[in-house]
Amino acid sequence: MISIFGSANMDLVAYTPMAPKLGETVTGRSFATVPGGKGANQAIAAARASGTGAAFIGAVGDDAFGPALRASLEDAGVDVSRLRVVPGSSGIAHIVVDDDGGNSIIVIPGANGTVTGPTPEDLDVIARSDALLLQLELPMDAVVAAARAATVPVVLTPAPARELPAELLDAVTLIVPNEHEAAAITGRTDPGEALEALLELVPEAVITLGARGAVYGSRAGERLSVPAVPVQAVDTTAAGDAFAGALAVARAEGRPSPEALRFAATAAALSVRRPGAGTSMPSRAEIDAALR
Ligand code: ADP
Repeated sequence: MISIFGSANMDLVAYTPMAPKLGETVTGRSFATVPGGKGANQAIAAARASGTGAAFIGAVGDDAFGPALRASLEDAGVDVSRLRVVPGSSGIAHIVVDDDGGNSIIVIPGANGTVTGPTPEDLDVIARSDALLLQLELPMDAVVAAARAATVPVVLTPAPARELPAELLDAVTLIVPNEHEAAAITGRTDPGEALEALLELVPEAVITLGARGAVYGSRAGERLSVPAVPVQAVDTTAAGDAFAGALAVARAEGRPSPEALRFAATAAALSVRRPGAGTSMPSRAEIDAALR
């Protein structure tokens, strides 16, 4: 089982020929509410990719979106016994997409912003899991507290890019940035150089490179490059979350690194073939079929 301590957001997406300027009103084309948030996405990815399940630890608001976010996790088979409901708004990503595909986004942390460190009950769940997945959409103090309290391997997706305190890095086993986040952390744009710099900070690192795949390294001396699985990309939203969730599952199953990375790249490729975030995560059967 994988535990995830992170964010849940409802994405409110307005599609419009042109985004409004300040003070302007425009008529849009269509609207969609899409469950997202990096924590919830990774929980759904891990639950769908595994036979042993995933537990989400986080918060939603007591607004109309809270029950919808809970249902989207439950529908994917995620254990939500540690999901709390707090007064006020759920986490919201307010997104405007214009006809050129350009977007502007306002993220309101809402309930995510109220999460503090893990409770004793949360820590029981974490201790029973094979790994703890963290991202950076919760308050940094909460993320640091979870990483430090965890007694299982900690996998960090350092997104959105933020300053990483040493006390967090000290508690991380594996870091999984995309190439932009890796460059922000290390100051190196070359993935090979960034990988070596990350290994000065944590024992293991994967840098995801979009359609170019990913590179992996460990302090034990392993260096690997995995190609992306070629697919017709429809929506790359949450590809990194699909990758991180599936990678955690494969490692929990004790698969060696080359096989675990191939499993993750396959799950991520399948997710980009479908629109949406949580809704795009492939099932175990789909991943296994694609790997054959
Ligand atoms: P993020 O979504 O965090 O920005 P990336 O864009 O690096 O992360 O994508 C994560 C992983 O998803 C990649 O390492 C790759 O395995 C897979 N992936 C992303 N885009 C594609 C694509 N167009 N085709 C196939 N696989 C992809």
